[in-house]
Amino acid sequence: MTSPAARVAVELTAALPVPELEDFYRDLHRHPELSLREHRTAAKLAGRLRDAGYEVAEGVGGTGVAGVLRNGDGPVVLVRADMDALPVTEETGLPYASTADGVMHACGHDLHVTWLAGAAAALAAGRETWNGTLLVVGQPAEETGQGAARMVADGLYERFGRPDVLLGQHAAPGPAGLYPHAPGLIMSASTDVDIVVHGRGGHGSRPESTVYPVVTAAHLVTRLQTVVSREIAAGEAAVLTVGRIEAGTRHNIIPAEARIALNLRSRTEAVRQRMLASIRRIAQGECLAAGCPREPDVTVGATFPLTVNDAGTDAVVAAVHGEVFGPDTVFDPGPAMGSEDFPELALGSIPYAYWFVTTTPGEVWEQAPGDTLPEKFSAVPSNHSPHFAPDLSTVAPGVRTLVSGALALLSVA
Ligand SMILES: [Zn+2]
Ligand SMILES: [Zn+2]
Repeated sequence: MTSPAARVAVELTAALPVPELEDFYRDLHRHPELSLREHRTAAKLAGRLRDAGYEVAEGVGGTGVAGVLRNGDGPVVLVRADMDALPVTEETGLPYASTADGVMHACGHDLHVTWLAGAAAALAAGRETWNGTLLVVGQPAEETGQGAARMVADGLYERFGRPDVLLGQHAAPGPAGLYPHAPGLIMSASTDVDIVVHGRGGHGSRPESTVYPVVTAAHLVTRLQTVVSREIAAGEAAVLTVGRIEAGTRHNIIPAEARIALNLRSRTEAVRQRMLASIRRIAQGECLAAGCPREPDVTVGATFPLTVNDAGTDAVVAAVHGEVFGPDTVFDPGPAMGSEDFPELALGSIPYAYWFVTTTPGEVWEQAPGDTLPEKFSAVPSNHSPHFAPDLSTVAPGVRTLVSGALALLSVA
């Protein structure tokens, strides 16, 4: 271990209060909160940052938390965790499973908050080893793509200073103890689209007097499957998922409209625009074919940007992770189809590194069917699954990744 950052990171995290951090994690997991309602989570994080000596602001951009530790001349490093949970009913059967009806930390943001709190405390306790400013951010509403932009719009950087570099990490499926890094594109863009098909409602026994939006919506769902398969070049990556379809109230009532909610993933703006144009064309065509009384409404909703690491910054962080955890634990998995609003914190120009920490318990990974890595990856519970259950063994390593990453970018004596 040759770099000062790696050496100091190991020193500062040698005596982490792991059982206490595990308790904190289990408490957060028991009490998940939906996007922009992360009041309890935010208060817990803010309390820990205050205890560690940070100047703290709450309610930034809604429920966001910001803590700053000014520690002499040096770079301003922002370290971020997201805090929100999902409308998922937990099925892990864990003793510390969610106590909130229909809400679950199914994306690991409880672990992210735990990692951030642990790292903030360790870096504060060891402040004589580094110089610079740490800006610690507990971000609300990642899942809805709102939180990062809201914190920026609420003056995060005017109040605490504009950072020189940003760091973020995310729990991911894979045998616990790996740190996937990518020097450029790591997460895809995401776009929500809503379609409303307008029919003409009436009695279920009298099709001749109605325009039946249910069958038009069904055709639409099927035809939309051809956007990626028949219109996007084989070498491009894209996903189109119809996540929700809704129409009608009773067996014998033909409803007046049907609603479809889609989500798109893409890795270039050109592909995104092509998909949106195709969706509009197909929706209009199906409604024309069905004789709908009006054109469909096609509305573009929440959009997540591409997550593109700064190659130089990511190389520095990947290198220190390799030193701390061993070179075999760091590898480039290629870009994921998942999406993040983390890049909103970069304002289009601040360099950042964003990486993954794999959290699947060893025995779950071993017992997963399949022999190849891709087979096993698709067999273990992924983020957003009601069975997503990160291994507690990843609590301390996720603190070390943040501490070592931050130290690699601060000035270490
Ligand atoms: Zn998520
Ligand atoms: Zn997430």
